[in-house]
Parts: sequence; C-alpha cells; structure tokens
Amino acid sequence: MSENVIIIGSGPAGLTAALYTARANLDPLLISGNEFGGQIALTNEVENYPGFPEGITGPELTELMKQQAEKFGARFEFDHVSKVEFGKHPFALETENGEHYDAKSVIIATGASPRRLGVPGELDLTGRGVSYCATCDGFFFRGKDIAVIGGGDSALQEGLFLTRFANKVYIVHRRAELRAQPILQERARENARIDFVWDSVVRDIQGKDSVESLGLVNVRTGGSAELAVQGVFVYIGHYPNTELFKGQLDMNQEGYLQVNERLQTKIPGIFAAGEAHDHIFKQAIVSAGFGCMAAMETEKFLADLEHQGYPPLSPNGKP
Ligand SMILES: Cc1cc2nc3c(=O)[nH]c(=O)nc-3n(C[C@H](O)[C@H](O)[C@H](O)COP(=O)(O)OP(=O)(O)OC[C@H]3O[C@@H](n4cnc5c(N)ncnc54)[C@H](O)[C@@H]3O)c2cc1C
Repeated sequence: MSENVIIIGSGPAGLTAALYTARANLDPLLISGNEFGGQIALTNEVENYPGFPEGITGPELTELMKQQAEKFGARFEFDHVSKVEFGKHPFALETENGEHYDAKSVIIATGASPRRLGVPGELDLTGRGVSYCATCDGFFFRGKDIAVIGGGDSALQEGLFLTRFANKVYIVHRRAELRAQPILQERARENARIDFVWDSVVRDIQGKDSVESLGLVNVRTGGSAELAVQGVFVYIGHYPNTELFKGQLDMNQEGYLQVNERLQTKIPGIFAAGEAHDHIFKQAIVSAGFGCMAAMETEKFLADLEHQGYPPLSPNGKP
C-alpha cells in the first residue's frame, strides 16, 4: 500500500508539515532521522519562536510540535532514510532499519548539519572536550575554560549559554567583527565571562585524553598562539542534508535543493521544506512556515492526482 505522504525529517519543517497534512486527513508518516527535533533540539534557549514569551528549550518545543501533530493522526517512525527512488511513481524509500515504503508524495525536510573545523585533533577529541552542542554538553564544563569557534548567532547564543557553567568562554573568530544579531553582540560584550579572540583560526586541537589547548593562527599577522581550554564548541555554520537526493533532484553548488515558489522540486509530488532548500533565513519559524507551505501544496497535489492521475513528465523532468 502506498502512503499518501512521507515526510523525511523531524525538525520544525517536518513537524509542521506533519501537523498540516494530518489536519488535512492525509494520514502522514514522518520518518524522523537520527536526530529527533533537528537542529533546534540542540539549543537550550529559544527566545524568538512566537507564542513563548518566557522562551522555551528546543527539545520542549519540538516535543510539543510532535504531540500536536500526533493529536491529529500523524505517525512517526524513528528511522533514517537511506535510499530514495524518485524516477517512478509511487516513489520508493528505504531506511537504515531495512523498511521499504511507497509514497504518492514526499516532503523533504532533512535540514542541515553543523560544519566541522577539519583540523587535527578534532575527530579524536570529539566527545572528549570537542562538542557541537552546548545544550547537550555545557553541564560537563562547570568551572572550566572553553572556546567557542564562530561569530554568528549560534556562536554567541551558545557562548552566552555556556557562561552559566564555564569560568571563561573565549569566542574565537576569524574576523575582527561579528555576524551575529546586534542584541546578542551587546549581551556577549557585556558578559564578564566572555573574552573575544579576533582574527584567529584554529590550527589544531591538542590533548591526550581530553582537550587541553587550542593551536591558533592569527590571519592578519600569521603568528601562532596557544589557548589553554578544556572544551571547544564549534559553531561555524552548516551544510544541507541532501546527499541522498544527488542525481535525482536539482540542487545548487552547496547542495541546497532547488524548488519553485510552491516548494515543488523538479519532480511533481516531491516537495522540499526548510533548510534543505533555505540557505538564507535559517530560523525555526521560517522552516516551520515552509513546512506549512509544502503540506498545503502536497494536499493540492494529492487532490489533483486523485482526479487527473500522475502528470506526464517532459524530458527535463518538469511537468
Ligand atoms: C545551536 C543552534 C541554535 C539555534 N537557535 C535558534 C533559535 O534560537 N531560534 C531559531 O529560530 N532558530 C535557531 N536555530 C536554527 C534552527 O534550529 C533551524 O533553522 C531549524 O532547526 C531548521 O529546521 P529544519 O526543519 O529545516 O531542519 P533541521 O532542524 O536541520 O532538521 C532536519 C531533520 O531531518 C532529519 N534528517 C536528515 N537526514 C535524514 C534522512 N536521510 N532521513 C530521515 N531524516 C533525516 C534530521 O535528523 C532532523 O530531524 C539554531 C540552530 C542551532 C544549530
């Protein structure tokens, strides 16, 4: 039996798509991926999601979204899609747990993942002082000195969060100015536990059993420096999780999926929502909005499918 719609990914985009398709009586199936809740579930402080004047943690927010979608009948599988076949209809999907699914439509909400530094010591010391998630690991750095790498919203937001535990938080940034929102910059500059290390990139991460120091290079002078820290939190951006769709869907050079204004990919019935295609806004509320749009378009696609059948494809794959 073919599913009406399979949603791939459980970040704000996927969870919102699940809510809307469930309320449209489409009986959606959401395959969550290995990280339930997506990136927002990595953060402890969400102050800019409407409806929560006191703020909310990322895990709480995504759990509430899930409950709301479940209330209207959305189904969840905690599995990871490992293969897709979009060249035939119904579309076929396979998962890491060995499940096979057919679907009349698919909403891709696979989002993005944090970028690694790619320096010596990073992989060896991951989980032993190197982290990509302040919410998960901040607690372990009580009274310690740590470095946060990056200069955007995530770096400052998580750096500020880490001052709750750490003795000192060094924000290491490759430029002499930050990209983060002014309000975050102001808070970070006013925080006595935060120091900035400007114009610097990480050369390597040193330590025997756990992180002991960072090797830094000043990009202006070329000079080297050592920074004694027991933790390194990396917030230098992220890349879209779209490898799975290479060769089947159009994407830009960075791998972001290409969609039209109705979030349809080049294949009718395959929609994309959130950071799998959005390389501009990168906010939970925006991804949630895209999830809503993709769900509404899926509903229209399925209604047309019922009345007219699957649209014929031109040689370039466009309807
Ligand atoms: C540390 C941090 C703090 C942030 N703080 C804020 C904030 O305060 N406010 C704000 O608005 N935004 C914040 N953001 C940004 C926000 O988290 C993202 O914009 C949002 O999560 C993107 O949602 P998404 O649904 O598009 O994708 P994601 O959240 O990236 O979710 C993608 C989902 O797809 C799943 N997936 C991937 N591949 C597969 C596969 N093959 N099969 C099945 N599932 C798959 C993943 O497991 C995940 O569940 C923050 C981001 C980070 C990293």
